[in-house]
Parts: sequence; structure tokens; C-alpha cells
Amino acid sequence: MDKIKDNYDIMVIGAGVVGGLIARSLSFFNAAICIVDRHIDAAMGASGANSGIVHGGYDAKSGSLKAKFNILGTAMMEETCRKLGVPYKNTGSFVIAFGPDDELELARLYENGIKGGIKGLELISGEEARKLEPALNETVTKALWSKTAGVVSPYKLNISAVENAVINGVDYLRETTVTEIQRTENGFNVITDKGALNTKVIVNCAGIYADEIAGMVNDGFFSLTPRKGEYLLIDRSEGGLVKRVIFQTPSEKGKGVLVMTTVDGNLLIGPDANIAASKEDISTHADSLDFVYKTALKSCSNLHLDKVITSFAGLRATPDTGDFIIGESRKVPGFYNVAGIESPGLSSAPAIAEFVANEISEILGGLPYKENYIEVLESHEFFRDMTMDEKERAIKENPEHGRLVCRCESVTEAEVLESIRRPAGARTVDGVKRRTRAGMGRCQGGFCMPTVVEILSKELKIEKEEVLKGDRGSYILAGRNRG
Ligand SMILES: Cc1cc2nc3c(=O)[nH]c(=O)nc-3n(C[C@H](O)[C@H](O)[C@H](O)COP(=O)(O)OP(=O)(O)OC[C@H]3O[C@@H](n4cnc5c(N)ncnc54)[C@H](O)[C@@H]3O)c2cc1C
Repeated sequence: MDKIKDNYDIMVIGAGVVGGLIARSLSFFNAAICIVDRHIDAAMGASGANSGIVHGGYDAKSGSLKAKFNILGTAMMEETCRKLGVPYKNTGSFVIAFGPDDELELARLYENGIKGGIKGLELISGEEARKLEPALNETVTKALWSKTAGVVSPYKLNISAVENAVINGVDYLRETTVTEIQRTENGFNVITDKGALNTKVIVNCAGIYADEIAGMVNDGFFSLTPRKGEYLLIDRSEGGLVKRVIFQTPSEKGKGVLVMTTVDGNLLIGPDANIAASKEDISTHADSLDFVYKTALKSCSNLHLDKVITSFAGLRATPDTGDFIIGESRKVPGFYNVAGIESPGLSSAPAIAEFVANEISEILGGLPYKENYIEVLESHEFFRDMTMDEKERAIKENPEHGRLVCRCESVTEAEVLESIRRPAGARTVDGVKRRTRAGMGRCQGGFCMPTVVEILSKELKIEKEEVLKGDRGSYILAGRNRG
């Protein structure tokens, strides 16, 4: 544990997008803050495996926390992403109907949205929908168009939020699992697998484990069920088949299988929704992926399985209360839950963060703002997006741009090095991938992985055999070949 202090004012447990953005908002205040996560990097929970949609906010029950924070968060998303240098696009979304029953559901969603004060909602005919999205099937009879919806890079938002918090003085304690919490006179003694820490306030953002963290202070009044969603990610050559996010009508299981182009230009289809075998089960299965593919074909028949480059799954932290759980524990002062943040948690996160940071400040008697907090992250244009002239200039300024590490995604050595050297930087091959896209292309790292391993080994001053792909124990090289 990169333990810097023994005593903190605030400990955020969980470096997902919710904990990351909360730590960032808290870092604008003058206080001793740490963010603790059991993983080696940010965005390794639900925040790294979701659809990346900034939802319009028409479907959550009016008056719920989900509805409130979705509407506020979606309105804040573009500016938050601009400040953090995170890719975001206001694409809009369609919920499509295939007949009278679905059309009734669209009318209900539209009414719910209007009641909640959502702007930019319109019901259009199947024909109008196909004019805007020619890939939609002839069987589509109507669509609910949400013009405020968009897409974002969920892991980049998460990683940049943590980086911004660290730049503003937050201690990021990676690979540190909270195992026990004891109450003390001034707050809490938090026991982790790397040692103990004292803190006055705890913000519980532990995703699918937030119920267990609450249980550690004997206030486990809610429980969370892991509901898995599996996806197929399709090559960028197919991206742009649809411009907007295409949903089918939702069911009690969730928003249903969608077809969309991600903010990075891949086509994405999924997710399904099934109770997972455990809170660690992110396996994908042929029958689930077959369901995803066949259901997506109902929206657009032009989907090619031979262009699939990978599959993945994420776990929704579904609470038995039916809504986000946000607030200080009634039983344990200073213990603050931000739990059950399933969809639309990503969309809501910027607004949740601002709200919670102000609440925590109040709990601690009104924290003063730092004088020189840094709200905007320095970001660089990706090499692949530069013009030929810009590329030449970049190589002249830094010859490490002249060495291409990932051919599929045009990622240079300079970019890989920077991803490791930035505050809260990459420590693994997947960490480099999430920051630079090296390994996200068609060959899925087949070409660039050995070079990334070599660079990580040099930069982190560890043996190549010690370099990890993802989390603890995921060694890539079992041993050395001696000729
Ligand atoms: C399939 C799927 C699709 C989704 N699609 C969307 C979407 O399109 N739009 C949208 O708005 N929302 C979406 N969501 C919801 C969104 O992903 C979540 O709301 C959001 O990522 C939750 O963030 P979090 O920080 O609460 O949780 P997480 O990202 O899971 O982070 C929790 C962190 O807590 C850490 N932790 C847990 N226990 C401990 C411990 N004991 N000690 C230390 N650390 C611990 C974990 O390591 C983890 O990093 C989707 C979710 C899923 C699963």
C-alpha cells in the first residue's frame, strides 16, 4: 500500500467511476483524503465493463434518486468530460417499437420523461426513424428519440477522475482490500490487507461489495445482487452502422439489448441480464452471447459475427431497495453510503459526486476550498488523430512518437510511456490498453503486447515475468526460455 498518512479526514472506499469522481470533487476541499481500492487500477469493476451510455433519463421512476441524478448527471457530462479530456459524443438514442404493445411502452416512457422535465424527447414513426438510421429493420413501427443522450468512454472517465483527484492531493491506495472496520472515538479504524488506517469519515463506494462494507459497521440494511450483462464488441470497420444508441423496449430485467457505436468507433451489442454465479463472475457464455446476437438482429439485421473482436461482461450492483442508496448511515455517523449504483450510475456519477462531496463537507463542519485546485486535466491529442504535418512535428519534438507500438490503433511508444508516467498511471498491460487503446484493435494485442510488457518492465523497474495483464496474479510470461 502506498500509505502516506496514518490518519485521514475522509476515506473513499472504491475507485470506480463513482468513488473516483467523488474523490475528485472532494479534492477541491482542504482535507486529508484517500481513495482505497482492492484492484491494481481504476475502472476494474462495473465502471470498466458497461455500455458507456449517457442516458436521456426518461425511464427511471419520476421522483427516484435514479431519475434525479440521471437528469443532473447527463446535463453535467459534456463539461466534466471536457475538463478531464475524456471522449464524449452527444449522439442521441432511440427506443424502438415493433408493434402496438411496444408502442404503448414508448408512450409510457415519453410521459414519464415529460413528467420528469426531460428535454429533447420526441416520438417518431418507423419511417422517420429509418430515415435517420437506415440500418434499422423494416419491422420497426415507432421510436422514442432522446436527443440529450450520448456516449462516453466509461473507463477513461473513471481513470481521469482518479488522476485528477491524485493531482489535487488525494492518496490513491491501490491493491488494498478493506477487510474490517472498527469504530473509534474520532471515526473509524479501517483494517486492510496492507495495514490499518484511521479516518473521520468513510464514503462507501465499493460497487457490488458495498453491502458487505456497510455490514462491517453493522449497518447492512440493504443487499446487492450481481446481475451480469454480456456483450459482443465488433470491429471498428462496422462502427457507424448506427449513429444513435438503439434500445429495444425495456423489461423488468433492465434496458435490454442495444446496438450502438461506442465513442471510440466500435460497434457494440448487448447486454443481457442474468443473476451471476458470484460477485466475481465476469465470464461470458456462448448461449448468452447467442441470445445477445439474435436479439440485436431484431433491431438491425446487418450485424456480422465474423467481425466480432471480443466479448466481455459487467456486473450490475442491483439493490433490494429498488433505488440508489445515497446518504449518511442513520446508525453510524460519519459512515456514508453511495451504494446500489446500477444503471444509470455512469450517467449520474458527475452529479452524485458533487452532491456527496458537499454533504461530506457539511458532516466535517464545512470544509474550506483549496486555493489552487486543478479542475482541468492536461490532455494530449492522440497520435492516430493527428494530421500528417502534426505527426511529423510530434516525432521531431519527441522521437518516441516515431516508434509505433500498436499498429491496429496507431499508438506510439511516447503514448505508452506517458500512460505509465502520469499520476495514478498504468501498472499493467490492460492499464496501458485502457489509457491508450494499445491492444484494443482487431488483433487484440497479438502484435503489441510483447513491446508493452517490455516498456512496463523498464518503467516500473520490474522483471518482465512480473508484468501483469490485468489484476493480481495475471502473469503473462511463465518463465524464461533459455537456449
Ligand atoms: C452491464 C452493465 C451496463 C451498464 N451500462 C450503463 C450505461 O450505459 N450507462 C450508465 O449510466 N450506467 C451503466 N451501468 C451502470 C454503471 O456501470 C455503474 O453504475 C457504475 O459503473 C458504478 O460505479 P461504482 O464506482 O459504483 O462501482 P465499480 O466500478 O464497481 O467500483 C467499485 C470499486 O470498489 C472496489 N471495492 C470493492 N470492495 C472493496 C474492498 N473491500 N476494499 C477496497 N475496494 C473495494 C472495487 O475494486 C471497485 O473498483 C451499467 C452497468 C453494467 C454492469
